[in-house]
Amino acid sequence: MTGGERTQTGILPPGIRHVLGFVCVLLVLLLLAGAISIPFLFESQSIRYKTGFDKTLLRTGKVLGMTAATLLLLQLSLSARFKVLDRIFALNRLYGVHRVNAVAVTVLALFHPLFVFAPEDITSIPLELEYWPEALGAFLLVLILLITATGIWRLFLSFPFDRWWVFHRGAVSLAVVMLIVHVLFVSETFEEAEPRLLVFLAAGIYAIVLGWVKTKPVLRKKTPWTVTGVAPAGKDTYTIQVSPRDSGTIQYIPGQFAFISFQSGNVSSEEHPFTISSTPTRPGNLLFSIRCSGDWTGRISRLTPGDTAYIDGAYGHFSYLFHNPSDELIMIAGGIGITPMLSMLRHMVDSGKRRKTTLIWSNRTRDDIVYADEFKELEQQLSKLKLIHVLTRQEKGPDSGSRLNLDKLKKLLSEHSRKTPVFVCGPPIMMQDVKRWLIEIGFRRSVIFLEEFRL
Ligand SMILES: Cc1cc2nc3c(=O)[nH]c(=O)nc-3n(C[C@H](O)[C@H](O)[C@H](O)COP(=O)(O)OP(=O)(O)OC[C@H]3O[C@@H](n4cnc5c(N)ncnc54)[C@H](O)[C@@H]3O)c2cc1C
Repeated sequence: MTGGERTQTGILPPGIRHVLGFVCVLLVLLLLAGAISIPFLFESQSIRYKTGFDKTLLRTGKVLGMTAATLLLLQLSLSARFKVLDRIFALNRLYGVHRVNAVAVTVLALFHPLFVFAPEDITSIPLELEYWPEALGAFLLVLILLITATGIWRLFLSFPFDRWWVFHRGAVSLAVVMLIVHVLFVSETFEEAEPRLLVFLAAGIYAIVLGWVKTKPVLRKKTPWTVTGVAPAGKDTYTIQVSPRDSGTIQYIPGQFAFISFQSGNVSSEEHPFTISSTPTRPGNLLFSIRCSGDWTGRISRLTPGDTAYIDGAYGHFSYLFHNPSDELIMIAGGIGITPMLSMLRHMVDSGKRRKTTLIWSNRTRDDIVYADEFKELEQQLSKLKLIHVLTRQEKGPDSGSRLNLDKLKKLLSEHSRKTPVFVCGPPIMMQDVKRWLIEIGFRRSVIFLEEFRL
């Protein structure tokens, strides 16, 4: 990728990305160190009058509480879709950290009261009114457990995504308010000016970030797009074409994704993430290739030209343009996981930057292959493209009944250097298997790039 292309799309060179990433991690560590130092620098009376092991237990409890509180407040920044953080870390990874961080907050929050109350001689739960900040803390703990459990076990609990999302946002906002009140009133430490000021500062910054998150969709309405095409692209899949209504457009590189929502009489206005399957070499129109897999996508064919679309993007680092131009490439796709590869191949044709590419594409049957005709054309246009179909449930024909496994992958990639970048996108189980096999075959983790269709 040339320097000019990088500047246009906001993609940072790897060296700068690493330095900025290091700075961000350092800032978070400093923030945590600051929060943890409060129970040492501003001792509450309860700590001051404790001695020995009891003092250590109580202080540890407070440190755990402060760490949980700081990490909880950081959660919003991880999911706020800050472009600058996406450029450094990639949005998908930030969402991954958001999930891990949620578990960390929950564990720390669970241990916080255990350590705080361990040195106290409590035989029954105090119900006096003066202990309301502690009671609030207990409700907060239950709420945090509920938020994390419903996040982790959403599918198991059959919690529809749209309803879960409304619950999640509401519950998290309530948790943050409860947290601020709990921290301010539960200990004398926060009666002192400096720690109190720090809590107000943290709450203020949180409110600003939240305000920005809420304002973004409103601002997006100022740059509407128009649905200009809805066309079948194969089994249960549609190509949705959108064009900017005014002069606006978005900068993206092949393989990136965006969030799209529609204002239409037939499709609800929820926002969903999809790969931009078109190529940036053809600015103006954006294409999304959407497979009907649920309530919302099941209605996508009901969009009509003229409907309004709103786009937030582009995000992600899943692109061959991030890698050395002399590289050959391996792409492994499962089903509709082909969309980022399609964008990259379309880009190779238009830009003339053809790379030696091996594309292994697993589908159930030949009928499940989307854009079948276009892929035949791409094979002709890209002489260095080798497309290998794997059809797991096809009963007849040369590719029938084959399943991707360790031996098959080893054979297919026997002539490739183990340093070749491998792009994998498909159903989660397939991606896990493929990653494990690639590592067993000898590919280093650092050359395996995964795009999960889940945030
Ligand atoms: C980075 C990325 C790129 C994607 N690219 C494509 C693509 O090119 N083509 C394609 O067909 N699919 C793509 N998907 C998947 C697509 O977003 C989901 O299939 C779609 O959102 C499902 O919505 P539903 O309501 O129809 O299905 P449901 O059955 O309600 O949801 C299925 C799953 O999709 C996820 N999901 C649902 N709604 C949302 C939402 N509003 N925001 C975020 N996640 C949600 C949840 O994990 C949910 O469990 C992509 C997903 C991601 C994360």
